[in-house]
Amino acid sequence: MSLANPKVGFVSLGCPKALVDSERILTQLRVEGYDIVQTYDDADVVVVNTCGFIDSAVTESLDAIGEAIAENGKVIVTGCLGKKPEQIRQAHPGVLSISGPQDYGSVMTAVHAALPPKHDPFLDLVPDTGIKLTPKHYAYLKISEGCNHRCSFCIIPSMRGDLVSRPVDDVLREAEKLAMGGVKELLVISQDTSAYGVDVKYAPRTWRGREYATRMKALCEGLSELGIWTRLHYVYPYPHVDDIIPLMAETGANGMPKLLPYLDIPFQHASPRVLKLMKRPGAVDKTLERVQRWRSIAPDIAIRSTFIVGFPGETEAEFEELLDFLDEAQLDRVGAFAYSPVDGATANALPDAVPEDVKQERLARFMERQADISAAKLEAKVGTTQRCLVDALDGELAIARSMADAPEIDGLVQIQNGFMAGLKPGEFVDVEIMGSDEHDLFGEVAFDD
Ligand code: SF4
Repeated sequence: MSLANPKVGFVSLGCPKALVDSERILTQLRVEGYDIVQTYDDADVVVVNTCGFIDSAVTESLDAIGEAIAENGKVIVTGCLGKKPEQIRQAHPGVLSISGPQDYGSVMTAVHAALPPKHDPFLDLVPDTGIKLTPKHYAYLKISEGCNHRCSFCIIPSMRGDLVSRPVDDVLREAEKLAMGGVKELLVISQDTSAYGVDVKYAPRTWRGREYATRMKALCEGLSELGIWTRLHYVYPYPHVDDIIPLMAETGANGMPKLLPYLDIPFQHASPRVLKLMKRPGAVDKTLERVQRWRSIAPDIAIRSTFIVGFPGETEAEFEELLDFLDEAQLDRVGAFAYSPVDGATANALPDAVPEDVKQERLARFMERQADISAAKLEAKVGTTQRCLVDALDGELAIARSMADAPEIDGLVQIQNGFMAGLKPGEFVDVEIMGSDEHDLFGEVAFDD
């Protein structure tokens, strides 16, 4: 019998939520004694965790499956695209098994069938916090699955089902373990972070001898006890979001903000009529007022948002309403997409589709308008000192992020004397900002005199 462990290759596509699924599957594979390998050649079988959210993600996922079949031959497919097995089988009839998101059991059954485990529970070493695909010093913390909304452009609820919140003590214990394992930044993710706990009626649970409701604010209060950065993603502008803003202006015992002054809040549009067609959750009429109020409470708050331009029925006047909103809201970071129909979304049935060339033209105007705003906001930071978290060293430079920068989606802070200052990934450092461009900041370590 061979002494070598069976070897699994893993391809992870899609959003941070899919990344968390990948981490869980990888952890289970390690528990059962599988080695995770980096090349198709080394792998006995390959798992592809797919994304199926928009058409380009479907194509990317199908290409990744095709490549794995061509290079290795034994391929197990899971993730969002797994909800459409016929589409996968049509393109790649040779896949061994197909399962949907969070279906860890089916993935493991398929791996066992293709490659029996060589399990020795006494010898297998499993890190307590699981296998993480992200660098050691930051981690995604998934607080719920599914979504109760039915935005007309989105098929996530039909793929992932209604909201199911994790009990708050469970989430806080995971966060505590991650912090003890060296994680310095937690990225809270879900489909709708502000809805956390609605499904369990905000059930109270106990952590560290104190009662916490399964609710966004209580979760943030618990996480603030850990003394590391906590960043909230996918927050919808419900009224109770206002309750967490004061935490962003408070500092905890070790001088860290209790909650990073950062909100990732996908507004998607500014025209009430378009938002209605999109069936977006949250009050929309007072958005600007609320953004101003948040800034008066937490002046450093960075607001990131995403928008869709060219939604079916969007008129030129409604598009201009969106541009006006950008001017007034002065958001820090903005992502935008030209509307692209998603197979199975109800928005496909809406009349007055916007022609492709008009969509692209609007997208270009939108991005141009926001580029000026983002550049001016970054320029205003020149001359300030920003607390940053170092991600990596690159020659003389240290690559870091300020509180306003989420990994992968926002900008970076390049620290010119990072190597000389002896910085290491995962370290916090105060940086004097000396320059900026449209996306990034440039500076030097601020030494005390
Ligand atoms: S809130 Fe809307 S866009 Fe987000 S997952 Fe739910 S249905 Fe989709």
